[in-house]
Amino acid sequence: MTVGIYIQVPFCQTKCTYCNFHTGVVSRDRYQPYAGAVCREIAVTASPTSETADTVYVGGGTPSLLDPGALAKMLDALRGSYRMESQPEPLEVTLEADPETITAEKARAWIAAGLNRISLGAQSFNDRELQAAGRMHRRADIFQAVEFLRGAGFRNISMDLIAGLPHQTRESWEKSVNELLQIRPEHASIYMLEIDKDSRLGRESLAGGSRYGAAAIPDDDTIADFYESARLRLDEAGYGHYEISNWGLPGHESRHNLKYWRREPYYGLGAGAHSFDGMTRWANAHESSRYIACIEQGSSPREQFETLTPLQALDEEFFVGLRLLEGIDFARIEREWEVELPKRLAALRENIDRLRSLGFLEVDGSRVRLVPDRLTVSNEVFMQLLG
Ligand code: SF4
Repeated sequence: MTVGIYIQVPFCQTKCTYCNFHTGVVSRDRYQPYAGAVCREIAVTASPTSETADTVYVGGGTPSLLDPGALAKMLDALRGSYRMESQPEPLEVTLEADPETITAEKARAWIAAGLNRISLGAQSFNDRELQAAGRMHRRADIFQAVEFLRGAGFRNISMDLIAGLPHQTRESWEKSVNELLQIRPEHASIYMLEIDKDSRLGRESLAGGSRYGAAAIPDDDTIADFYESARLRLDEAGYGHYEISNWGLPGHESRHNLKYWRREPYYGLGAGAHSFDGMTRWANAHESSRYIACIEQGSSPREQFETLTPLQALDEEFFVGLRLLEGIDFARIEREWEVELPKRLAALRENIDRLRSLGFLEVDGSRVRLVPDRLTVSNEVFMQLLG
């Protein structure tokens, strides 16, 4: 089986108010040594039999902050250590980019380096919402960025929006969705704001205050309505809804991210990057300075190894696989686990029947899937199913 490669670049220009990822705002002087460490990690960790990779995803953080030459070196290092599969489908090589970091020169350099997909963190087309969220770009930057990317030759752009940002109204939300549809990226992601209690916005929500607009966050029902209206608009506009938060024009689903939901192997490189080989998960050291020190000293940055028990692996099949609108093949799961976990399977079968009669799940032959207009309560459905 082919693998996906994820490269983590944990640097940002500022910290968005809602974000609590392990990313840092650091001096640009630290970018180059970091990229060098990732190149060394690629060379040291690649299997001697040279595995085959068919997707690469450079995420963060804000990897578009890096010098394009550093990105090119990391991709060259991958080509030197992995067989890169380009048949039957072309290799998918994605870069996450923030609109204000994109220039025409960078876009051309990215294409030349072998990147062919950009995931653009638009989040909103409303300047007040962007400013309150601590984003560095404004609406005009999104249009400018797309012009640069299209001009350079990118034919596969993904764009994210967040439903539920402070100050968002029904009107501003619908305008953001309309503007996204006008641009017509090949792929779109719609996330419902989840407030991490340790983010600045989360702390303000708990302790009070007015700096980050916590009091201006729409309520949960309104956020669910925003998601639902976007779902219908994207469906009408010809986007295929294939995962709770993701839509693609035909043939433009994210092949890299599909590996996560299908529980296929992927290797994470860089500080805090996660990996999965089919049975065991692990993560690299989170702090970039510690990660670099490990690589320079020749010691492994890998930690937090967790080999899944059969029960964990079975439950994962459900809460990861059911995120896909195509659902899961319950007959296959039964065949694989009936000898080892018959009681758990019986309990799951009962829960599926109950959730089906309540209208949350649908069963079509051996396929089980979430009902499309109940996706906003998917977390509750997963808890009922696996509880
Ligand atoms: S750019 Fe992304 S990773 Fe960086 S702070 Fe904002 S949301 Fe977090």
